[in-house]
Amino acid sequence: MKAVLLSDIKKIEIRDVPPVHIEEDTDVLIKVGVVGICGSDIHYYKQGKIGDQIITFPQIIGHEMAGTVEQVGKKVSKLKPGDTVAVDPSISCFACDQCKAGRLHTCRNLKFVGCPGQLEGCLTEYIVLPEENCFILPDHMSLETGALCEPLTVGYYAVQRTGNMEGKSIGILGAGPIGLSVILSCMMKNARIVYVTDILDYRCHLALQHGAHWAGNPDRNDIVDTIIKSEPYQLDVVFECCGKQEALDQAFLLVKPGGIVTIAGIPEFDYYRFPANVVRRKEICIQQVRRQNDCTSHVVRAVGNGLIKPDFMITHHFSLKDTGRAFEIVSGYKENVVKAMIHL
Ligand SMILES: [Zn+2]
Ligand SMILES: [Zn+2]
Repeated sequence: MKAVLLSDIKKIEIRDVPPVHIEEDTDVLIKVGVVGICGSDIHYYKQGKIGDQIITFPQIIGHEMAGTVEQVGKKVSKLKPGDTVAVDPSISCFACDQCKAGRLHTCRNLKFVGCPGQLEGCLTEYIVLPEENCFILPDHMSLETGALCEPLTVGYYAVQRTGNMEGKSIGILGAGPIGLSVILSCMMKNARIVYVTDILDYRCHLALQHGAHWAGNPDRNDIVDTIIKSEPYQLDVVFECCGKQEALDQAFLLVKPGGIVTIAGIPEFDYYRFPANVVRRKEICIQQVRRQNDCTSHVVRAVGNGLIKPDFMITHHFSLKDTGRAFEIVSGYKENVVKAMIHL
């Protein structure tokens, strides 16, 4: 079967790899249909690592996928061949202290699809996963939308972990796929007003079209000053969704005393800094989020019911053989790209 391998920094190759087979009775063999390129894939592409997760080349990358069930193990009860499914790429052990405490995403034995040292990625024709990682798509939902459910779930979880959004004033710094997913989830949870910033104007426009009440480019205006002029008591919650120190600095200025700063971005550096006196005097709660915990079924349902309409994020389509070009476009923020999908 064919697979996309990252064989060096910024080097994508398509190679034949040995086929995969069902090993456990609870496994499902899936024919991969569509894979979205994630910001984390771009970190591996550009730097070969995220923090201390370092790639040993070559590695199959990719973890945002939807596909069609091809074959099921003997003990699989909820899926059958022909079902189309979205996938949660995070495999937990269900036995450790974290899993027992309901924290599947910080499982001590976690294995994540396309993560160095854990599992090969899904940019390949077939993949084997446990049944519990697969979520049947509603009849009318496309595989593209199914693949988009993974990043959408990360944004949904960031909002859920932060708390009640009803009537709240929100700042979202960064309007990439995660920031946009946070907007959609905040609106679904009845936030009062949503302010968005991004250094790319086209992403500000998209944010405005899909729920943001205001959007601004921090490279061209003083976004802190402008937002605080319309929200003199500052914001209840600020989501950092771009992994930039500047954005975190702005978040602490934008949030009100007693407010929450939620960090969802992945930085390219090892340490954030924060102004001790500002954070102390305002008694700011800093909430870091890690991927998502058990939210995929909620998101598939919300998208199926039309409560969240995320398809506008899909801006580019590529075939497997053009994956290299797809990575070039996404990593360079070219052609007003938001989410690029690879069709296998
Ligand atoms: Zn992702
Ligand atoms: Zn565990």
